[in-house]
Amino acid sequence: MTRLRPNILLIYTGGTIGMVKDFETGALKAFDFNNLLERIPELKQLDCDIDTMSFKDPIDSSNMNPKYWVDIAEVIENNYDAFDGFVVLHGSDTMSYTASALSFMLENLDKPVVLTGSQLPIGDLRTDAKENLITSIHVASLQRYNKPVIREVTLYFEYKLYRGNRTTKLSAEHFEAFVSMNYPELVTSGVHLKVNYDYLFKPKRRKPLAVHKTFDTNVAIVKLFPGISQLFLENVFHIPELKGVVLETYGAGNCTTETWFLQVLKEAIAKGIHIVNITQCVGGSVLMGQYETSEKLKRMGIISGKDITTEAAICKLMYLLGQKVSPKVFKTIYETALRGELT
Ligand code: ASP
Repeated sequence: MTRLRPNILLIYTGGTIGMVKDFETGALKAFDFNNLLERIPELKQLDCDIDTMSFKDPIDSSNMNPKYWVDIAEVIENNYDAFDGFVVLHGSDTMSYTASALSFMLENLDKPVVLTGSQLPIGDLRTDAKENLITSIHVASLQRYNKPVIREVTLYFEYKLYRGNRTTKLSAEHFEAFVSMNYPELVTSGVHLKVNYDYLFKPKRRKPLAVHKTFDTNVAIVKLFPGISQLFLENVFHIPELKGVVLETYGAGNCTTETWFLQVLKEAIAKGIHIVNITQCVGGSVLMGQYETSEKLKRMGIISGKDITTEAAICKLMYLLGQKVSPKVFKTIYETALRGELT
């Protein structure tokens, strides 16, 4: 049921955004989110109610793993009917992975999940945390015809709301830390919030939220480089229990045509290992068959990751393996956009 005034659940998982500087010692310490409204009185001007909860032991997002993804998804699942939107405060380092993972976990989501964080702690004089936090909550509370405007997992950073599974962290320095090279911004924040309605994800109607909690981590990411050795590649593909590999190739999905290289891949596929071809370029798409150097991959039955990000590619692989998708349809399902993660 939608209330007159939307209510938003703010979930703090950890990361820089939730830190304050002790001005006397200069040390960073955790911010008390229970006193959020007192610490950031500007939030009271937003036309929504805000509840907060925090991980018992907030983490640096470099420690993120599928168990924590399940924790976040369960908080959303357990509070789904009681809230109109969710803002997840998260360290920026692995935020794109979490956004991608959550997008696959939360099937039929029809409320906003906005991940945000910051480059500087909330208590820092020049912080980007306040704007990111305030606008994320604002975006999560946007309603149209009594329904949330955003109905997918998103990431807000430095005046832009992105589809979460399309993002990559690009800068450890700039406030504009994320990019979404292959999909336009969903909302831009200037004097007004400008919503790009045409690009929003439209979930299937009237299907209840289904939360998938199993990931299979028997996977690897291999980035090609000129000089990659046979020994290295063979060893990767002989890892016991390995079920899937994301192969970061060059340009539009190209790789060396050396016989040993193609042979390793062929044998891996024959053993039932799923190999996904994605490009190591930050923008653009894999197009197998465009060049001779990718034609052989296509014929071998390698999966095209099209224009998916590395973050979404590995999460999708772990997710589909966790769902025990049958090998017969695995390639077709992988190549299909499930949550708008590829074009
Ligand atoms: N290392 C921090 C983290 O990802 C950086 C940040 O919060 O942005 O948790």
